[in-house]
Amino acid sequence: GEVCAPDATVSDACASYQDLDTLNTRIHPYVRSLCTQTDFFSYYRLNLFHKVCPFWSDENGMCGNIACAVNTIDNEEDIPSVWRAEELSRLEGPKAQHPGKKQQKERPERPLMGELGENVDESCVVEYDDECDERDYCVPEDESATSKGDYVSLLDNPERFTGYSGEGTHQVWKAIYQENCFSKQTAESEAKSSGNPIAPFGGLTGSQGQAAQDLKSVMKEHGRQQAMQTGGMEDKLEFEDTCLEKRVFYRVVSGLHASISTHLCYDYLNQTTGQWGPNLECYKWRLHKYPERISNLYFNFALVSRAVSKLKDYVQDYTFCTGDPVEDRRTKQMIIQLAEQLPAGSEIFDESVMFQDNYPEQTGITLKEDFRNRFRNVSRIMDCVGCDKCRLWGKLQTNGFGTALKVLFEFGDNDVSKPKPTLRRTELVALINLLDKISSAIKAVKDFREMIASEQGLN
Ligand code: FAD
Repeated sequence: GEVCAPDATVSDACASYQDLDTLNTRIHPYVRSLCTQTDFFSYYRLNLFHKVCPFWSDENGMCGNIACAVNTIDNEEDIPSVWRAEELSRLEGPKAQHPGKKQQKERPERPLMGELGENVDESCVVEYDDECDERDYCVPEDESATSKGDYVSLLDNPERFTGYSGEGTHQVWKAIYQENCFSKQTAESEAKSSGNPIAPFGGLTGSQGQAAQDLKSVMKEHGRQQAMQTGGMEDKLEFEDTCLEKRVFYRVVSGLHASISTHLCYDYLNQTTGQWGPNLECYKWRLHKYPERISNLYFNFALVSRAVSKLKDYVQDYTFCTGDPVEDRRTKQMIIQLAEQLPAGSEIFDESVMFQDNYPEQTGITLKEDFRNRFRNVSRIMDCVGCDKCRLWGKLQTNGFGTALKVLFEFGDNDVSKPKPTLRRTELVALINLLDKISSAIKAVKDFREMIASEQGLN
C-alpha cells in the first residue's frame, strides 16, 4: 500500500508531501551535479579555526571546555583510531587551505577554480564586499578583518556520522533553539506564559495543530485557504500566542537539526564491521518517532527551493570570476536549469505573509530585524561546535538559510525599480549546498521509509 506523508499528523498533507517528493526527485540530479561537478560550488571559504565560542565559559557553570563535547565514547582508547570521534571529526584534504598546485595536477579531470590557479586577477580571489550590509541575515564568514578564512573542499568532507555527541552537543542545540525566544523572553518563561513550550528539551516540538497551520499558511497547498482564516479555535489561540515568524524560525532550526540527524544516520559508521552505510535504528530513534521533525525538513525544502527559484534572473548578471569563461558559462547554465525546474510562483512557499507587522512589544525594532539578528546569533553559536566537520556544515547551512531569507525578502519579483541586492560567493555557494543537503536528506528519508516498509512486510 501507499506509504503516506512522513507527517501523518498533518491530516491532509499527503498530496503536499507527495508533491514535494516529486519535486525533489526532479531537482535532485541538478543540484547534485552543481555541487559535485563544478569547482565554484565544491569549495567553501570560511573562518573555521580562528573564532572562539562567545557564549559560555566555566564561570557560568556551562560547558566551558569545548573539548568536553568530543570523545564521549567510553574508553575511546580501546577503539581503532579511525573510529574515534576526534578522527572522524577531522577535516580531510589540505587543511582548509587553497588547494595547491599539487592537487590540481592530481585531479586533471576536474579543473580547479581559476581563482585558485596562477594567472588570476587578485580581485577575483578576494570577495569584494566584506562588510556586513543591513540586509544580511548571517555573520558573513569573511567578516573578520584579520583573517580571510580558509578554503575547504566540501567534496572531501561530506556531512556524515562523526561521533560528536554528549552534553556539549546538547548545549549547542539548546542555545540555538533558545534564539527562538523572541521578545527577550527565556524559553521557559515563554513556555509557561503560552502553555505551549517551544524548547525542544521538554519533549515538545510544536503541536500538531500548529504544524498544520504553518504548512497551510506559508506553504500554500494548492490554493487552499490559509489556516489563519479557516483554522479551528485551537489553532487561533495558538496563533495569538506565537507569531508566524517565531514558528518559522523554530521550524527552520528543527528542520536543520532533522537534516543533520538524517545525514549522520544515513552515512553511519558501523563500528562492528567498519562499514559506512545507513543505520535504520538511528533513523527510527531520531526521526521516525517524531513526524514533526520530518515535517520541518520538508518545510525547509519548500523555503529554500522557493529562494533558489528566485535566482533564475539574478544569476544572469552574476560574475563568477573563476578565470575560466567556459566553466563559468557552464556553471551559470546549470544554476538556471536547476531554477527552471522549480515552480516560478509562490505555490510551494509564500513568503509574502511574513513580516507584515512591526513587533508589537518592541519599539524601534522591526520583526524582520529581530529575525535577522537571531540568524546572526545562530551563526555565532556555531563557533561553539566542538567538531571541525560539524562546524563546517553547521556554519555553511546557517549561512545558506541566511542567504535564502535574504533572497526571499530582499529580492523583488522582477521589480525593476528596486536595485538588485548582491550575493557574495560564499552566500551563493552556501545556498546551493544547503539545498543539496536538504534534498539528499529527503531522498534518504524516503529510502529509510522504504526499509521500514519492507521490514514490516508491506512491500
Ligand atoms: P541531539 O540530536 O543532540 O538532540 C538533542 C535534543 O534536541 C533531543 O534530545 C531532542 O529533545 C531535541 N531534538 C532532536 N532533534 C530535533 C529536531 N529535529 N527538532 C526539534 N528538536 C529536536 N554529529 C555527526 O555525527 N555529524 C555531524 O555532521 C554533526 N553535525 C552537527 C552540527 C551541529 C551544529 C551540532 C550542534 C551537532 C552536530 N552533530 C553532528 C551532533 C548531532 O547533531 C547530535 O547532537 C549527536 O549525535 C547527539 O545526538 P542526541 O541523540 O543526543 O540528540
